[in-house]
Amino acid sequence: MSKPVLSYLGETKLALGPAENVEGHPWRRAEADGIVWLVLDCADTSTNTISEVVLEGLNAEVEALEKSSPKAVVLRSAKKNGFAAGADINGFREMTGDGAIDMLRKGAEVLDRFEKLPCPTIAVVHGMALGAGFEIALACDYRIAVDGATFGFPEVNLGLHPGLGGTYRLPALIDPLEAMTMMLTGKTAYTKKAKSLGIVDAVVEERHVEAAVEAIVAGKVDKQKPGLKAKALQFDAARGLVANRMRSETGKKAKKEHYPAPYALIDIWEEHGDDRKAMQKAEIESFAELLKSDTSQNLQRVFFLQQSLKNGARGEDGIDHVHVIGAGEMGAEIAAWSAIKGKRVTLGDINLKPLGKAVKTAAKICKDKHLTSIETRDVLDRLIPDPKGYGLARADLVIEAATENPELKEKIYADAEGRMKPDAILATNTSSLRLSELGSNLKNPNRFAGLHFFNPVSKMQLVEVVSQDGTDEKVLERLMAFCGEISRLPVPVTDYPGFLVNRALTPYLMEAMVLMEEGVDKEVIDKAAIDFGMPMGPVALADQVGLDICLHVAESLKSSLDKPMPEINDELRRKVDAGNTGKKSGKGFYDWSDGTPRPDTDKAGPDDLTDRLILPMLDGCVECLRKGVARNADEVDGAMIFATGFAPFRGGPMHYAETRGTEEIRKRLEELAERHGNRFAPDPGWADL
Ligand code: NAD
Repeated sequence: MSKPVLSYLGETKLALGPAENVEGHPWRRAEADGIVWLVLDCADTSTNTISEVVLEGLNAEVEALEKSSPKAVVLRSAKKNGFAAGADINGFREMTGDGAIDMLRKGAEVLDRFEKLPCPTIAVVHGMALGAGFEIALACDYRIAVDGATFGFPEVNLGLHPGLGGTYRLPALIDPLEAMTMMLTGKTAYTKKAKSLGIVDAVVEERHVEAAVEAIVAGKVDKQKPGLKAKALQFDAARGLVANRMRSETGKKAKKEHYPAPYALIDIWEEHGDDRKAMQKAEIESFAELLKSDTSQNLQRVFFLQQSLKNGARGEDGIDHVHVIGAGEMGAEIAAWSAIKGKRVTLGDINLKPLGKAVKTAAKICKDKHLTSIETRDVLDRLIPDPKGYGLARADLVIEAATENPELKEKIYADAEGRMKPDAILATNTSSLRLSELGSNLKNPNRFAGLHFFNPVSKMQLVEVVSQDGTDEKVLERLMAFCGEISRLPVPVTDYPGFLVNRALTPYLMEAMVLMEEGVDKEVIDKAAIDFGMPMGPVALADQVGLDICLHVAESLKSSLDKPMPEINDELRRKVDAGNTGKKSGKGFYDWSDGTPRPDTDKAGPDDLTDRLILPMLDGCVECLRKGVARNADEVDGAMIFATGFAPFRGGPMHYAETRGTEEIRKRLEELAERHGNRFAPDPGWADL
């Protein structure tokens, strides 16, 4: 058989398919030994996404295939990074009102028609097959996974559920409970898991793809069959019971008012899970309804914010070698993450113990991120413990993540400056110290900036790229690009107390302390924040961040901001003095021995509780905008969502302020200031919004 497919490796020049009448037809077609290969190759992008034109193109191909009936049809992708990343979200904007239903129906018809082709249909998946991409693969009779392939339905993260047949095709293929869990949680199944679930029929290495296709055509591969559970769940009563359990599980993670999509999915599955036709209709109607919801609109907004932060991180960083100083909580993860993303990293510390621990941290992150043993070995090869700091002389970027102590840091810089290459960048990860002061004795302040990562670095996407007055523009550009290279989202900010995120977040944490001192239970406080949509309440968050760090940041903001901050609670100082610093010590305000605390209480708090927590955070954002700490409201929203998890379904703090009404919030802050003190006085910036 001639080689028709490996185009994503740059080996094939496939001719365009016959349906050039569809504008931008993205399917490339080849035929070998009676098998038709349709290779998806969306124009002007490195990633396939499923749009109207992809489905129209497929429809045109199906029309031709219905007439010719080959031995088999194989679908695969021409892109290196995978099969398809899901629906083209840009297209959602045009899907309003009845138009959405028509488009979804048309899409469903194309896949139904494709599914009915009399010959075997096979999806060959390498990399990701997500959302609508996964749905196209599900419409095939067989799925071959190239090792490393992942499958999933992330729609729930956009306030949606699958809308192109996923809600009935996946539960018909695998254990329906597993299928529902995938759709309800958005979690992806990696190759091995996908095989054990029954999503794929064969797992092969790339060089064996053609042999696997031939084996299927020769009838040597058995098709997945629905199991017993699928049969049991054809009964309404069984589905009803299971659906109730799913609702209560979902309720533990997301409230229906905030995230309606999972509930909508459970409802339609409970009602129509035994009737594919009815399910198809319900899926389309429910998807179209969800698409209009505020939640979905706001989550789409978050998606675009993320894209735009990513766009800001394009370009060449000129950084091959990173030297990290300090292998503690932050330095270890920064070093590990940079090595995982391909950088050569040397890691120094005055103590040896943290260096050993850092290597273990790196291995654990590799495991959590599903790296293969070979990839993990390569990462650990790239991460070099360097107690003597030899890497300083070779590094293109030096990241200082040593103990938060200005004298210590200044000493480190004096030593580093003497050893660094002339064009290497010096960046600090400080949370609370001013760069203007830290860098005041530097010989070359032009190359000095902040790279403020969030904890844990391997999970928190945001990085504040902090400029001080002297920082060279080119240095900032390289640091932005570096963030892009290590798959983090950079937001440029200026050297302001707490920068943007801690400036906005600290009053939220400190107000919780004031409330506790007033006698409000920590559970009541945390539940109010969670009910608003925060991933975690402020008391638990303070414990998680570390009470010592919170105290340090709070003290530093209190002494450096014009605006009054909440009083620092004595209990906080006592806990820090006693070493009860929160999660890391096992005890803070909460006991963490049984994992993350989940406050559950029916007790009511003061009626202004939520506003007392949330509005000062918004006020901090407005102050940062007025002072030019952040460039614009969108970047503020992106930063707060990706650094703190600020209620994504509300679209970010500034978007929430706009939705609720900036004037209303300003007045409410005035009221709170009258009642509780000047720390609530609205920032003058509200008037300009
Ligand atoms: P940490 O105490 O866990 O680690 C600091 C490390 O620095 C220790 O291993 C220590 O041995 C080492 N060190 C001290 N003096 C050194 C020297 N002269 N040379 C080399 N290494 C030295 O602290 P951390 O929480 O990782 O914080 C480090 C920095 O990151 C601080 O500036 C902090 O403000 C900032 N930061 C912390 C967090 C957080 O949540 N922990 C978040 C963002 C930023």
